[in-house]
Amino acid sequence: MDIATLDPAAPPAASDGQPPRDCPRCPRLAGLRDALRIEHPAWWNAPVPSLGDADPWLAIVGLAPGLQGGNRTGRPFTGDRSGPLFWNTLIAAGLAEGVYTGRAADGPVPAGVAIVNAVRCLPPENRPTPEEIRTCRPFLETDLAAMPSLRVVVALGAVAHQSAVKVLGGRLPKARFAHLAEHRMPGGVVLIDSYHCSRYNQNTGRLTPEMFAAVFARAIELRDNRTIPLVPDAPGDSVAG
Ligand code: SF4
Repeated sequence: MDIATLDPAAPPAASDGQPPRDCPRCPRLAGLRDALRIEHPAWWNAPVPSLGDADPWLAIVGLAPGLQGGNRTGRPFTGDRSGPLFWNTLIAAGLAEGVYTGRAADGPVPAGVAIVNAVRCLPPENRPTPEEIRTCRPFLETDLAAMPSLRVVVALGAVAHQSAVKVLGGRLPKARFAHLAEHRMPGGVVLIDSYHCSRYNQNTGRLTPEMFAAVFARAIELRDNRTIPLVPDAPGDSVAG
C-alpha cells in the first residue's frame, strides 16, 4: 500500500484495488461528493485513500472521512476535531512521527501503522447505510489482505468493528463491540475495539485521552508479547461507537 497522494488531480489508481476518484458504487455518497465539488472546489471531495506503512503490524480502521477532516484535506483524521486526539495519541505511543498541525501537507507519518476507513467517502451526518458499508468493504479487504505482517487491528467504533470482523473472517455474534474488548480472528490477528475519536465522543466524555491511549498501549503489549491472554468481552457492554 502506498502512502496516499494528496493531489486531487491525480489519476485514479484502479489497478491497485483502490477506488477511483469518481467511484459510482454508492449513488448517495457520489451525489454528495458532486455537490461538494461545486460548493468547495478546493476540497478533496473524493474517496480518501488509506495511509501509512507499506507493511504494518497495526492497522487502524476508522468509520469514514469527516466533512471538514479527510473529505476536505484528503488525509485520514486530518483537519477536524478528531485529528489532535488521534495523531497526538499515536505520536506519544511511538506509532507516528512528526507534529500534528491539521494540514495534510506536513502531517505526522505513521510508523509501522496503516490507517484505513470502513467507508471511503463522506457519508451525510457521518452515517453510512448498511448497504454503503457493505459496498465499500472490498476496498478494506484489499488493503488488509496486502499487509502480510499484520498482527493487531484497532477498530474505531461499532461500524469499523463490524466491517473488520467480517473482513478478517470472524463471527459477529461472538465478537461484540466494547471499548478495549479484544477478539482473536481466524489467522491470529487480534482485533481491539475502541470508541471512535469523534468530536461527539470527546465532548460527551465517552472517550477520554487516557482511554484512547490505553487502546494503543494494549496493541503494543500484544505486539511485543504473543503469549499474554486476551481481555474477554464484557457482557452487557455498550455497542455504541
Ligand atoms: S464509499 Fe466506497 S464503494 Fe461507495 S462510492 Fe465511495 S469509494 Fe465507492
